[in-house]
Amino acid sequence: MAYFNIDGVEERTYDAIVIGSGISGGWAAKELTEKGLRTLVLDRGKDVKHVVDYPTTSLHPWQMDHRGTLPLEVKKENPIVSKCYAFKEDASHFFSKDDEHPYVQEKPFDWIKGYQVGGKSLLWARQVQRWSDFDFEGPARDGFAVDWPIRYKDLAPWYSYVEKFAGISGNKDGLAELPDGEFLPPYELTKVEKYFKEKVAEKYGDRHVIVARCAHLSEQKDIHKQQGRVQCQNRVLCQRGCPYGGYFSSNSSTLPWAEKTGNLTLKPDSVVESLIYDEEKEKVTGVRVIDAHTKEVTEYFSKIVFVNAAAANTNLILLNSKSKRFPNGLGNDNGLLGKYFAFHNYRARATAEYDGFTDFTTDGKRPTSGYIPRFRNIHKQETNFLRGYAAGVSTYRSEYTSEDGLGVALKEKLAKPKLGPWRIGSHMMGETIPKESNLISLNNSKKDEWGIPLLNFDVAYDDNDEKMIEDYFEQITEMFESAGFTNIRTSDSKQAPGLDIHEMGGVRMGKDPKTSLLNEWNQLHTSKNVFVTDGACMTSTGTQNPSLTYMALTARAVDYAVKELKNGNIS
Ligand SMILES: Cc1cc2nc3c(=O)[nH]c(=O)nc-3n(C[C@H](O)[C@H](O)[C@H](O)COP(=O)(O)OP(=O)(O)OC[C@H]3O[C@@H](n4cnc5c(N)ncnc54)[C@H](O)[C@@H]3O)c2cc1C
Ligand code: SF4
Repeated sequence: MAYFNIDGVEERTYDAIVIGSGISGGWAAKELTEKGLRTLVLDRGKDVKHVVDYPTTSLHPWQMDHRGTLPLEVKKENPIVSKCYAFKEDASHFFSKDDEHPYVQEKPFDWIKGYQVGGKSLLWARQVQRWSDFDFEGPARDGFAVDWPIRYKDLAPWYSYVEKFAGISGNKDGLAELPDGEFLPPYELTKVEKYFKEKVAEKYGDRHVIVARCAHLSEQKDIHKQQGRVQCQNRVLCQRGCPYGGYFSSNSSTLPWAEKTGNLTLKPDSVVESLIYDEEKEKVTGVRVIDAHTKEVTEYFSKIVFVNAAAANTNLILLNSKSKRFPNGLGNDNGLLGKYFAFHNYRARATAEYDGFTDFTTDGKRPTSGYIPRFRNIHKQETNFLRGYAAGVSTYRSEYTSEDGLGVALKEKLAKPKLGPWRIGSHMMGETIPKESNLISLNNSKKDEWGIPLLNFDVAYDDNDEKMIEDYFEQITEMFESAGFTNIRTSDSKQAPGLDIHEMGGVRMGKDPKTSLLNEWNQLHTSKNVFVTDGACMTSTGTQNPSLTYMALTARAVDYAVKELKNGNIS
């Protein structure tokens, strides 16, 4: 049974508390500690120290028990997380297993979680594209959700700020729909991707094949040296944790930086149950934490709280923060907390082959791929669906190996695979429309092992998503055909929402407290010392991989919060 720790209130009082140490929480920790605030970072997962806690980082396949794949038994026990492409033997220890934190699927939803210090920053695919005004203006122009309270110009300097520190490789492409950033040298497109780029540009002036921007140190600048990170070696084993710090993670970058300030206290194994609202003081005074193992309950206090538990858990914590003043969850006067929960539509794929360039192949690896920024409905509505999609594109030379023969002959064949044609793969990254009917809520009867209500997921695709998939199939087929690609195949994985691992919304930003939870500074309209800067704050979803936007919003919100604290507007 849980017991309550009442000793040492002073010892448990900080200037700021950050809930979650993943991509956004890591940034909150860095910014708050750098600005001199004594900051407590709480994470429900185990500690993961950079390098020392990457047990598989240098293993060869034959050094792993199952050569890198997972036994069928593990997959059977974990039907949800097993759907994620990165849940393999080398990184399975960084994923939460299905029974570790159950939830209720009112409708199918694949909730992929990484509970540890660093969160999913260890596991992510490091794709980072800025939003543009076409994205921020979307809801207002197309009449869905609510208008964003900010525009690109508000976030642009903060994108630059986080990009310089994190280290982003990319090319200055000069596209209004995908603004350029502070880039380290770009990775190269393959021969066939360059050819495809030319063909697409010839046929459509407004479609572009570019190299996707990624959070890798293609060059080490002084700021990365100061973090102890060196140039990426292109091993592409990133999901194991990178001993070089070649890619950006909280563990390699923001958390050690925060630690160096002397202002950080990091407490792993600390499940935040709720925020504490003091009815007399009429404000949030801290958080209630349950030890992940002993179940001991402890309260911590602070002037500011940043909630960065990743979108669904941030909704859960706020919904579970009930008080006389907020009987339906913290800040939830309008009843919208948990609603307008959204995701990305990653169902559609296409493949093809190309007969040319057989004198060329690729050598080595690169940690990114080609990318086609959104081209639909940018300047005006031109299709039967709202918004648009971006597409990933990658090409490689297929290889096949004959396993006929024995002894030396077999060894030689295995050592020298034959080259087949070039293969092209593409996947759609579609914007979805946040809707009130897509929501997450607390289950009334079921609780987890810490006594916290389970989350209900009531989230589904809609007609707009289906039409978008049809359009992607038509358009990518046409683009492939125009480049002379053959054997074109399209497929719809029909995967449930969630497997995109870009869950967003539920605590959306907006201008009006009647229709949103957060203001333009990611501050709860009704509780000025509480900030939400992970995916939960997103008013709409864009097509871009979202984490860079969470980083920029976080750094911006901390800057504001600390100024407000100094001005006495937050106490
Ligand atoms: C395989 C994979 C590929 C991806 N690829 C990309 C990509 O290319 N580009 C991109 O932009 N995004 C990508 N993502 C998504 C990206 O990882 C997330 O958007 C990002 O990590 C979200 O940051 P966050 O801070 O909100 O949450 P997280 O990084 O998930 O961190 C949340 C932290 O909060 C902790 N926590 C949760 N609940 C509580 C609680 N109650 N109390 C205390 N702590 C709690 C968790 O343990 C965790 O450490 C990918 C994700 C995966 C898994
Ligand atoms: S590709 Fe770069 S970042 Fe990834 S594991 Fe290799 S060196 Fe590290």
